[in-house]
Amino acid sequence: MAVVRERRHLNLRLPIPELSDRRPRFPLPLPPTAAATTTTSSATISAGDLEKLQVLGHGNGGTVYKVRHKRTGAFYALKVVHGESETDVRRQVRREMEILRRTDSPHVVRCDGTFEKPSGDIAILMEYMNVGTLESLLKTHGTFSEPKLADVARQVLNGLNYLHGHKIIHRDIKPSNLLVNDKMEVKIADFGVSKIMCRTLDPCNSYVGTCAYMSPERFDPDRYGGNYDGYAGDIWSLGLTLLELYLGHFPFLPPGQRPDWATLMCAICFGDPPSLPEHASEEFRSFIQCCLQKESSKRWTVAQLLTHPFVCKDPR
Ligand code: ATP
Ligand code: MG
Repeated sequence: MAVVRERRHLNLRLPIPELSDRRPRFPLPLPPTAAATTTTSSATISAGDLEKLQVLGHGNGGTVYKVRHKRTGAFYALKVVHGESETDVRRQVRREMEILRRTDSPHVVRCDGTFEKPSGDIAILMEYMNVGTLESLLKTHGTFSEPKLADVARQVLNGLNYLHGHKIIHRDIKPSNLLVNDKMEVKIADFGVSKIMCRTLDPCNSYVGTCAYMSPERFDPDRYGGNYDGYAGDIWSLGLTLLELYLGHFPFLPPGQRPDWATLMCAICFGDPPSLPEHASEEFRSFIQCCLQKESSKRWTVAQLLTHPFVCKDPR
């Protein structure tokens, strides 16, 4: 098993691989919003049009502000990475820019422009998700009911279906990277460690992302990898995310326990996958089981999960 070197609480991130200079072989068509004439494009919104209102979040990759367009009054989220930031952080934000500028899905956060200042500051302008993240919702409103989780699962699966269909692996699905607005729309965000697969058999670097949500094959590809291509890792992280939102705590640890890196890695690699208590419905327990198969080849794909009764049956 490979030894992992860096650590940090549940948000632990691992070294970022070199960002390939190669352009993807199959570039995605630019979304309609990227045309220079639209009101939301970077060509029509300049950094000077925006007024910073408050900090929405600090992350590994910079600071996210709520901003207002001075003329239109519209709100946006602006992710800023400062010029003096470490190379890895700048590389992450460029990777995120590259992916967000090419995606166009109602289940992926919309990019409304990107900026680079002579000072070296880099910024991504995004749609503002006014309710926050699934992590903040869990903290403020408590655990999620099954019907709500079925809705969350359906939306995230649709987002992953779009991404995987365009050969993009997110690699950092977790409650704090899933944004919510007041229509209860859930959108995938934070593509700092995502990867565009250039070739079908392109190996997917294992050691990026937030380790707590990483799948067993990313720690130990020989044992759990099968024909490992990376896509199944997003499914594992989705399963853990849904379980956490139901239980109210990170599933591999008892409530309130501070995560210890070694315990966590051993639990993921050597322990049984976490499961739902018996009072949960059969459909939900089966869905979680399909996501949390330790062997990546046994895990259901996005397309298969979209047909699972947990997400298919009529909302109750
Ligand atoms: P981390 O390393 O912790 O994952 P990061 O630097 O990669 O963070 P993001 O995850 O993109 O950055 O954003 C950090 C936080 O900012 C989010 O968890 C969320 O609270 C807030 N945020 C990001 N984008 C938006 C948005 N479009 N609308 C509202 N809030 C947002
Ligand atoms: Mg994040």
